[in-house]
Amino acid sequence: MNAFGPYLGRQQRLSGPTAPVLDKYRLEPFAAVHLADDATVDEAVGRAAASFAAVSLTPPERYEVLSRAARLVRERHDDLVDTMVAETGFTLKDCASDVSRCVQTLVTSAEEAKRLEGEMVPLAGAPGQSHRLGFTLRVPLGVVCAITPFNSPLNTVAHKVAPAIAAGNTVVVKPSQYTPVSAAKLAEVLYDAGLPDGHLCVVFGSGEDVGSRLVADERIAFYAFTGSTQVGESIQRGAGLRRTQMELGSIASTIVMADADLELAATKVTAAAFRKAGQVCTSVQRLFVQDAVFDEVAGLLTARVRDLRVGDPRSPDTDVGPMISVREAERVEAWVRRAVDGGARLLTPLERRDAVVSPVVLSDVRPDMEIHCREVFGPVLALYPFGTLDEALAGVNDSPYGLSAGIFTSDIETAFRAARRIRTGVVQVNETSSSRVDLMPFGGTKASGHGKEGPRYAMREMSEERLVVLNLRADEEGPGS
Ligand code: NAP
Repeated sequence: MNAFGPYLGRQQRLSGPTAPVLDKYRLEPFAAVHLADDATVDEAVGRAAASFAAVSLTPPERYEVLSRAARLVRERHDDLVDTMVAETGFTLKDCASDVSRCVQTLVTSAEEAKRLEGEMVPLAGAPGQSHRLGFTLRVPLGVVCAITPFNSPLNTVAHKVAPAIAAGNTVVVKPSQYTPVSAAKLAEVLYDAGLPDGHLCVVFGSGEDVGSRLVADERIAFYAFTGSTQVGESIQRGAGLRRTQMELGSIASTIVMADADLELAATKVTAAAFRKAGQVCTSVQRLFVQDAVFDEVAGLLTARVRDLRVGDPRSPDTDVGPMISVREAERVEAWVRRAVDGGARLLTPLERRDAVVSPVVLSDVRPDMEIHCREVFGPVLALYPFGTLDEALAGVNDSPYGLSAGIFTSDIETAFRAARRIRTGVVQVNETSSSRVDLMPFGGTKASGHGKEGPRYAMREMSEERLVVLNLRADEEGPGS
């Protein structure tokens, strides 16, 4: 069984106590990681801070490292997919998609490294200021700390690490305990691509121990966090005046209007509700369907859900694999059973074997039920009928969260009205809440957090703007100056 040590620079340190990493379908260990104690965490931050002070990569050098890393991820595709299938339980299809997306995140970060630009400030627009020239520079912050969740263990880590490097920072990563190996393999890729020693450190351990120690470390300038709202709030409290990017929880909604292409909507919603067994921050949890087509859409959805293959994620035909743990699968099962006891109607059967929960479609869900008012983060889709667009928009906005939403319609006025009135960071038209292109500005509002992912936008988060003013000699002003 392979053991992975923390990266405190180019070399892993293979010493100290280990924790097993479970295969999430077979429920047996397939790897182990060496856990970081307090001294190791301190050393990791110290190495990243020293590397920031000692080596400053030029933008073309950042481009070269990140481009090479993208090529290496492509070359190591099969190994990265195998690792991810084992440590997440996600299907081959889902893992292959994550690895391909990681390549795009690295490529885009490489490209953006070359164009991290400031702007001219038109100081001459103020009376008597034409002798001043103002412009801004984007300067790196120092050590960026990335704390990441289990549900995208390669691409989400890349979404923190690559823009941080592209903007000239160094990075310390603490991946989820469930999925540490993909992060270790990304570190190996980046060092093989020529990243200077110490520019990236990776430490393994729990959020409570390693995570909170990182949050308390004043040498860290910025926290790039993706995870639950509850943990995000605690990190934000610890970060104090330091800046953060908070990609937090969500209850994502999608609307199907009666004028929509219903077949398209049903196909996309099925994929968006159940890929990664529903463990995606933008998974469709609430689907609002206009009254006139409710029964038809319910029929189209249940037919598609019945065709989904559920079970072994290594089988190329499987669409829905296990959840991240048996405990999480039991929680989802219990929430659905309590909803059904309270009057919700199951449109597809609920079955659970170990961590595998069958994809569930429900109707007649009430606002006080957990599957309505809490983030399910599992393979559960609730259908709600509505009459007018305003009712649907009110339903979407009736949530503490605001990450992403979708609407299917053939009417541009309806689409535009929804885009204006839905309070989420992203509104997708003729797509579900769960569509994403890695270069786009992605992030939420309300309890879904703040700050944007997407390399160009994340680099702005992970750098600071410095104004430079040149005072020129006033007597040189004249025509054409
Ligand atoms: P989580 O439980 O919040 O954990 C996220 C990370 O935070 C893990 O590495 C965790 O460590 C660490 N952590 C836990 N307590 C901590 C503390 N006190 N201090 C510092 N770090 C701490 O989230 P998850 O279950 O892995 O992921 C699911 C959540 O992520 C969902 O709510 C989902 O919506 C959200 N998410 C949001 C987005 C987005 O873009 N908005 C994207 C993906 C996921 P350990 O777990 O290893 O102990």
